[in-house]
Amino acid sequence: MRISYSALETFKRCPLKFKFGYVDKIKTPKRKEAIFGTLLHSALKILHEPGLMIPTEEEILKYISDNWDAKIYTDEQESALAFAQAIKIMKDYYAKNYPSQFNVVALETLFEAPIQIGQDLHLITGKIDRIDKTPEGLFEVIDYKTSKKMPSQQAVDKDLQLSIYHLGVANRWPSLAKERRPIKVSLYYLRHGEKLSSARTARDLEAITEEAIKSIETIKQAQQAVKFDATPNPLCDWCEYQRLCPFFKHKFKEVKLFFNDQDVKALIGEYTKLKDEVDERDKRLSAIKADLSKFMDQEGMERLFGEDGYITRSAIQRFKYDSETLRTILEPLGRWQDVLKVDDMKLKKVAKELPPDKRAKIAEARQVDKEYKTLALKKTTKKK
Ligand code: SF4
Repeated sequence: MRISYSALETFKRCPLKFKFGYVDKIKTPKRKEAIFGTLLHSALKILHEPGLMIPTEEEILKYISDNWDAKIYTDEQESALAFAQAIKIMKDYYAKNYPSQFNVVALETLFEAPIQIGQDLHLITGKIDRIDKTPEGLFEVIDYKTSKKMPSQQAVDKDLQLSIYHLGVANRWPSLAKERRPIKVSLYYLRHGEKLSSARTARDLEAITEEAIKSIETIKQAQQAVKFDATPNPLCDWCEYQRLCPFFKHKFKEVKLFFNDQDVKALIGEYTKLKDEVDERDKRLSAIKADLSKFMDQEGMERLFGEDGYITRSAIQRFKYDSETLRTILEPLGRWQDVLKVDDMKLKKVAKELPPDKRAKIAEARQVDKEYKTLALKKTTKKK
């Protein structure tokens, strides 16, 4: 299999988005955030292009200005704001990163990270924004980011993309691995002018290879079974396939939907209202229970009488057993397995503390037992 890093990452987040983009190859217009990022990446490529005259700051800013596409923004004001941000980012970058101080080895270069599964060789491919050779003789992979949030150092140390880049660079120059020369991997956050760097140990790379193997196998299984589940995640707000996704397509439906002659939107309105009322009543019920209990404690009573009936307080006991004693009784009767049941919640808690290989084995042992659908309400604030 030959798969790009971004396809792999997309599948991990949402198999359905992977299907839309990489199996069905559905083309969608690029989002404005992506266009913004691409323009900055092109400007940085021009800035660091080796062997050419170093462009002046004015030339770089003119490049941004000449290639600015105001039409992708909702209105002039939004475009002006984004343009000002792009200019500020480039000015700050230029001041901090004058190109002559770097020894750039490659720009926007393609890579292949080989992953061997049995007899099959798979290739994870991608594009690295920049590779430098540092004054200490290290190779440094740099990926530019335009996101507003900066991750923690811990997240950078675990970042899958940087690990794959490391594998790609080591594959391109095998002598680096042979000479055991470390490779520096960095993310440059353009909006903040901050570079976060990390390195990968041999153990990290083994773990990442194992993770990649599992991901490739899961993708192959999904392709064979033609089963790509929609998986809502924090990046859904930026997903270009919302109109096709079962979790979002209703939002885009223009024709009025009717269900048993009732407007679905009206049903949702009623559902929301009823849910509020139920929540309110539950809250009041809890408060009444607490007051009655207090009164019972105060008066030493366990039953209280009203006009319509009476309320009795009783203790509910939950028991736990000595499992060894139970086992000696039930096992000879062949009934021990009948009372054993793995508690999913407890297992998740325990698994979090286990090493990655054990977690992976637990994940492999997992099977869907029952599946049912529930309705969950998330209120959205109405635009004024
Ligand atoms: S909107 Fe979210 S759940 Fe739907 S396809 Fe896109 S990423 Fe997947």
